[in-house]
Amino acid sequence: MASSSTSVVQPTIERAQELGEALAEIRVRVRSAALPGATPTLVAVSKYKPPSDILACYEHEQYDFGENYVQELVDKAAGLPHEIRWHFIGTLQSNKAKILASIPNLYCIQTLASAKAASALDKAVPESRDTALRVLLQVNTSGEANKSGLLPLGEEVDVAASDLGQLAIHVVKKCPRLRLEGLMTIGSLEQSLSISETEKNADFEKLKETRGKLEEYLAKNHADSPWGHETSGNLVLSMGMSSDFEAALKAGSDIVRVGTGIFGERPKKAT
Ligand SMILES: *Cc1c(COP(=O)(O)O)cnc(C)c1O
Repeated sequence: MASSSTSVVQPTIERAQELGEALAEIRVRVRSAALPGATPTLVAVSKYKPPSDILACYEHEQYDFGENYVQELVDKAAGLPHEIRWHFIGTLQSNKAKILASIPNLYCIQTLASAKAASALDKAVPESRDTALRVLLQVNTSGEANKSGLLPLGEEVDVAASDLGQLAIHVVKKCPRLRLEGLMTIGSLEQSLSISETEKNADFEKLKETRGKLEEYLAKNHADSPWGHETSGNLVLSMGMSSDFEAALKAGSDIVRVGTGIFGERPKKAT
């Protein structure tokens, strides 16, 4: 079935089976936690995992994959089927925009956080690409210093004066080759591990509130420009990882990013 075939090493039968089972289990959990009528996207986060693992999931019709490192993504994308939709979820540096945007099946950048990076990406999107490159703005909902992203929009905030609002306007008005599709957050792991099932996750609530404010502002002021999901027209939310994707889905997440839950533990990053 894989049309473009590839130089990628095939997974062993055991590994293919293990990944097939893990993926099936996560899909069941995603479906049962999703809100009625919702069909959330499961992004399989494959950083540090070999291309053969990705191919094994692809054989089970998993097409959305997330990667954190530009060179790793470039190398993997070159050897794997072009039907894959790659999501970039790592720290985005403006000087890497060109190489990232040159990946023909790059589907979405989930970690946009500066106008400089937005302009660099917009300039780098090749003419040959027939759709705008989707971007999500990263929001630091937990306020942790080790997390990237813009401040969420609180109750009283003036959207147009906030960093997040200004970046959204910059993308919508000044970056015709990008499409502002929504917002992404990581949130505090402690928060998601410490709360009970009936409590609300404050970080997910903050992302929802931010989306509500931004959507209201854009609908009022920039209704004539394209933004939001191509079919629903709404800003989508990417929130939820292995440890908290069910809570995120119950809170209304549209995209969950699951690594460990599918592929198992990652090697610790060398420092
Ligand atoms: C690594 C990573 C994930 C996946 O994390 P798991 O806990 O392994 O599911 C999701 N989102 C981002 C931004 C990541 O860097």
